[in-house]
Amino acid sequence: MKDKFERNINYMRLSITDRCNLRCRYCMPEGIKKVPMRAIMTYEEMTRLCRAASEIGITRIKITGGEPLVRLGCPDLVREIKKIPGIEQVTMTTNGILMGEMADALRAAGLDAVNISLDTLDPEKFKHITGFDMLSEVLEGVRASLDTGMRVKINTVLAKGINDEEVLDLVSLTEKYPLDVRFIEMMPIGEGGSFTPVFNDEVLHTIRQAYPAMAEDHSVHGNGPASYFSMPGHEGTVGFISAMHGRFCSRCNRIRVTSQGKIKPCLCYSDTINIKPLFIEADPMQEKEVLKEALARAVSMKPQTHCFDNVSAMTEQHKMVSIGG
Ligand code: SAM
Ligand code: SF4
Repeated sequence: MKDKFERNINYMRLSITDRCNLRCRYCMPEGIKKVPMRAIMTYEEMTRLCRAASEIGITRIKITGGEPLVRLGCPDLVREIKKIPGIEQVTMTTNGILMGEMADALRAAGLDAVNISLDTLDPEKFKHITGFDMLSEVLEGVRASLDTGMRVKINTVLAKGINDEEVLDLVSLTEKYPLDVRFIEMMPIGEGGSFTPVFNDEVLHTIRQAYPAMAEDHSVHGNGPASYFSMPGHEGTVGFISAMHGRFCSRCNRIRVTSQGKIKPCLCYSDTINIKPLFIEADPMQEKEVLKEALARAVSMKPQTHCFDNVSAMTEQHKMVSIGG
């Protein structure tokens, strides 16, 4: 369905847990309280929500977290959502730690593509950023995902003085592997605000100097507002999600739902619609209509733009781990 600004909202990011097996500094600092399981939507509720969403024009679902793969039975949820008429694509954003063991099951369940978050190829830095010495598990997850034939994207968030020297190392993954390496600008959400972001015009400049023949690639790579570039002879491409700058908001096509059942019209603002109390198993038809009305209201509440350039206007106080990226 279209929002007030004529943007077609056809993509829903669904967080299925607020728990995670890593502690990325900019996302989930130590000490965050766990939400009790009873406050989290069940898989059945999530499936019913996706069914309602498909009836207001959502065609693509991204499963996210926390870390989605720490919630048991994740492939079953993928399978159920894939069965919904009108849902064309189910994809996932994961830190990749469990992908080595789960890629085949997810692919068999119908997962169409995976985004694996990876900020560094240096084991020491990986430990510094995420709190765990598990880079090799993530690389194994990337390999296993590629082996299934799924489309694979690497999501990298750069921070000055931490991993900004690694741009070309990360780009070199595209030489051998058919994957997209995407640079996502750090947003001042939660702990993200205490890091110095690296803006994508600077990253593009660094890459262009090393690969003068790189050219914009206008083919469609996914759901979001990323722009892509290819380099002659490389199997994969490089993408940029310029969340802080660029044409991010004019291309916005999404709503977000937290694992506790709050629909979020925009990343930047705290406004949500709480749907957890709307699940009324006794009357499935009535429930679907109520959910559709709540989803449509969230779409109509989408603001024209975010306000990351004026942090005092931001109202979102949650950490990214409970929003899902
Ligand atoms: N655990 C999964 C993962 O790491 O992909 C899914 C959830 S995580 C919150 C989704 C994405 O949000 C990750 O790629 C992460 O790097 C990104 N992220 C977290 N905090 C961010 C911030 N402040 N600015 C930009 N991206 C952020
Ligand atoms: Fe966990 Fe993903 Fe956040 Fe890292 S970015 S702490 S892996 S939810």
